[in-house]
Amino acid sequence: MSFSELGLSPKVLAAVEASGYTTPTPIQAAAIPHVLARRDVLGIAQTGTGKTASFTLPMLTRLESGRARARMPRTLILEPTRELAAQVEESFVKYGQNHKLSLALLIGGVSFGDQDAKLSRGVDVLIATPGRLLDHSERGKLLLTGIEILVIDEADRMLDMGFIPDIERVCKLIPGSRQTLFFSATMPPEIQRLTDQFLRDPERIEVARPATTAATVTQLLVASSSESSEKRDALRRVIRGSENFKNAIVFCNRKRDVGVVYNSLKKHGFKVAALHGDLDQRSRMAALDSFKTGEVSLLVASDVAARGLDIPDVSHVINYDVPIHAEDYVHRIGRTGRAGRSGVALSLVTPADGKHLAAIEHMTGKTIEWRGDALDPEEMASAGRRGSDGRSKRRGGDAERPKREGRRGRSGKSKDEAVSAAAPEPAAEPRRADAPRRADSKSRSPSPAPAPAAAGGRNRHRDSEDGGERVVGLGDHVPAFLLRPVRLKA
Ligand code: AMP
Repeated sequence: MSFSELGLSPKVLAAVEASGYTTPTPIQAAAIPHVLARRDVLGIAQTGTGKTASFTLPMLTRLESGRARARMPRTLILEPTRELAAQVEESFVKYGQNHKLSLALLIGGVSFGDQDAKLSRGVDVLIATPGRLLDHSERGKLLLTGIEILVIDEADRMLDMGFIPDIERVCKLIPGSRQTLFFSATMPPEIQRLTDQFLRDPERIEVARPATTAATVTQLLVASSSESSEKRDALRRVIRGSENFKNAIVFCNRKRDVGVVYNSLKKHGFKVAALHGDLDQRSRMAALDSFKTGEVSLLVASDVAARGLDIPDVSHVINYDVPIHAEDYVHRIGRTGRAGRSGVALSLVTPADGKHLAAIEHMTGKTIEWRGDALDPEEMASAGRRGSDGRSKRRGGDAERPKREGRRGRSGKSKDEAVSAAAPEPAAEPRRADAPRRADSKSRSPSPAPAPAAAGGRNRHRDSEDGGERVVGLGDHVPAFLLRPVRLKA
């Protein structure tokens, strides 16, 4: 199939050719004819599938007839984040190079005045985040009654960010005669309800199962202590020890940890930028640009800030934290292995991550291999596990890994980890007893298993048959709360 068979206009086809694209991606081949035929479309597709062009190209073709009127945009694209909105604008500029269309970007963190001036001149394509769009509309500076095509992109992300009520309000401000193009990587019930309410007999196009992880991405797990400074140490070893390393996005579950990890990597001499929702627009764009141009090779990011960003050439994704939601794992690792390139996704797994890891493996239908060389190299050397080439040998069996299922009552990180995450990195610390707990991956017992003790002092017995551990009492893993002094009443 070629682009010329899809019904796109000659101007759009010329721009596609100039972009160097020869074959439409599956979502483009499936969606473009329906968009041109004015049908509503429900596209279930992740970023990286070419979905932006699947709506941009036919919209440009459709916009060739008709003119924009002041304060009455002709088309509206809703995006959950400013970066995604800016990225869609770039697509319109690239594919619309042969058109004289006016674009406006309504995103937070940018002056109202400039946006208002653009609206007053009339825009063909309005790209907006929901909050800022409603601000303009409530000020009476924007009429949505002229919208012919509405695109709701990354709908499941909108849901995560609490934008669904805003989306409903926007949909009610636009005439029912509009065409709606709706994209989401997953279809949770709330999103299904939204599509039932606002789409008319949509053409449903699903290009890849939401849980599918790209075949071009090699996924590996690396055992790590949950203790904060040791975990950052493990991260550095992962970065330094990765083959064919060009650059990496390092994902943290919490905004605060983005700052902590960023500062730590910077202190250790890495070229690094940080991206999270609390940064102003200028800093976020600067961080992204420095990573895209190669000025820095590491980008520490939170899920919300990095979701859907199109950064074409990322060799590694590193999950500093195993994501709490399995679908975030799929989105994160989709940042690498794009456009047919190969990529590597490494996840640091602590003893507390078993439950989340199990959910990821369940969702992706794939058991992820362990790389397992992120523990203290000296400790490994003393255990006679170093090869003659000086590189760490693959550790034996799942008996040495953190459990795949977590302990009951622990959904995230331990309290002491949360505290130490904010503390400066100590120069050298003794290894703690909560270094990765290694257990049989097949064991689904939620009870705590022992961790290796300080180097040389291990209290571990491996069962030769199943690779599991025999544990006496709490082994050498004693929960911190049991070690707290007890106050006796006088
Ligand atoms: P998206 O899923 O829209 O974020 O697009 C992912 C990447 O694929 C972007 O870098 C696009 O420029 C690129 N792309 C889109 N369509 C094609 C195509 N037909 N052939 C090759 N690359 C494409």
